[in-house]
Amino acid sequence: MSLEEARRRSAEGPPVGLVTLVGAGPGDPGLLTRAGAEALGRADAVVYDQLVQSRLLDLARPGADRIFAGKSRGKCPVPQGEINALLVRLAREGKAVVRLKGGDPYVFGRGAEEAEYLHDAGVPFRIVPGVTAGVGATSYAGIPVTHREATSAVAFVTGHNEPGDPADRLDWPALARFPGTLVFYMGFRHLGSICSTLVGLGKPPGTPAALVCSGSTASQRTVSGRLADLPDRVENEGDRLGAPALLVVGDVVARRDRLRWFERLPLFGRVVLLIRPIGESDRSAADLERLGAEVLVAPTVQILPVGDAGPMDSAIARLDSFDWLVFTSGNGVSAFLDRIEALGRDLRALGHLKLAAIGPGTAEVLGRSRLRADLIPASFRSEGLAEALRPLVAGRRVLLARADRGRDLLREELGEVAEVEQVAAYRNADAEALPKTVVDRLERGEVDWITLTSSAIASRLHGLLPDRARQLVSSGSIRLASISPVTSEAARSLGWPVAAEASEHTWPGLVRALLDEASATKDAEGS
Ligand code: SAH
Repeated sequence: MSLEEARRRSAEGPPVGLVTLVGAGPGDPGLLTRAGAEALGRADAVVYDQLVQSRLLDLARPGADRIFAGKSRGKCPVPQGEINALLVRLAREGKAVVRLKGGDPYVFGRGAEEAEYLHDAGVPFRIVPGVTAGVGATSYAGIPVTHREATSAVAFVTGHNEPGDPADRLDWPALARFPGTLVFYMGFRHLGSICSTLVGLGKPPGTPAALVCSGSTASQRTVSGRLADLPDRVENEGDRLGAPALLVVGDVVARRDRLRWFERLPLFGRVVLLIRPIGESDRSAADLERLGAEVLVAPTVQILPVGDAGPMDSAIARLDSFDWLVFTSGNGVSAFLDRIEALGRDLRALGHLKLAAIGPGTAEVLGRSRLRADLIPASFRSEGLAEALRPLVAGRRVLLARADRGRDLLREELGEVAEVEQVAAYRNADAEALPKTVVDRLERGEVDWITLTSSAIASRLHGLLPDRARQLVSSGSIRLASISPVTSEAARSLGWPVAAEASEHTWPGLVRALLDEASATKDAEGS
């Protein structure tokens, strides 16, 4: 049924929602397409598979339903029939549904079956293709699937059934003769049998071959060898390897030494949990991902509009009577400027004011509106700001725009020399729990680092962590990276060791501390 037809029909009955089958890519959340991100942003319900990174679910609205339809550890997968029926039911409730699938929906993903079912049920659908593992995971492992000097063809093959099994419908003699790269999906279990079948049918035993596990994630592992010895090499690695895995066979595998860019990134293999307020920019995660880390995000604090904007509105109406406007966070800047606009005014209202920002992050948010901070203290904390401001504001009138809760130090210190008014520009509310996907990874011991960007966040984290994860932090298995000595002190007072501390107390400073630690570890391993 076409979209037009669906609309026509829905004009007669209740509206039927659109189902969008979105390819999530092989692991790295950055490999989702823009069309995929847009569909997620509009979704009322997201039905996702186990191969989907939790970070992608953050792209859906906070209120959207997130429904897991994959295979939990040790449990049976949700039957395909149930998934199909679920998609139809959600659409008939009038919801915009995203069916988020690993890799590409149509490459060994049963996406076509779901789309056919939707068609037959009269539910409109669209497909957003994704980067399939055979292309994405291989690139991250340094294996080009084609190469002008090596191969001009590539075949994607399912290794789900063992060669010779009655369910196996592959033409193995043809595969053994295939003049190009063979990429086997789901081939981990039958690796030995696939390799020996190919050799038995005449494929040279010296053909380069590799197993790529969890490509494009922090757990990416690649074992390479030849068709004849790859199964033994994989066996020797033991538990370090596991599904999802691709078997790649062909001369292109030998190119890996020069092309494995991802495994050479400084934070490759590290899983970092970023604790930060909801609604803050995605940039801090992207900073770490560019360096090769896998990033999980857990919001502890939510940034909300103030319940009563009256005091802020009144201060904005009296801006003429102030000399300095002081911001202690980027959120404060955004909320205050938004309010000026909402009140029908513009940046000229600030024209006569001197502006102070607690640090470069806050100054950057001012900069996005082409405003330059007149003052950024040398040390980016309330104490530093108070000390730098005191001589400048003596006898003047100061407006502090900040969160509804936080330290009162600035008001008290500046109040000794100036006339100070403080308004809440936004509200900080505690998150009630960590996302389930994050809790699972923490409890399985799959997180290497947690970043702490304030003492408030340290104590919130302490309250939110499940017992087992709290113990892993106490014992140092999950390590803490702190933004400043004050934050480190807060962590220590909770009984937690701090493994890295930023020397410059900013986010880039914290990233640098993680990089230093990673290179020290590499040196230690290399020596
Ligand atoms: N639709 C998916 C494939 C689903 S079948 C796609 O287009 O990629 C699941 C198989 O995909 C796994 O058994 C494995 O062979 C492969 N796979 C998925 N993600 C992978 C990854 N990150 N690294 C290696 N193989 C992966």
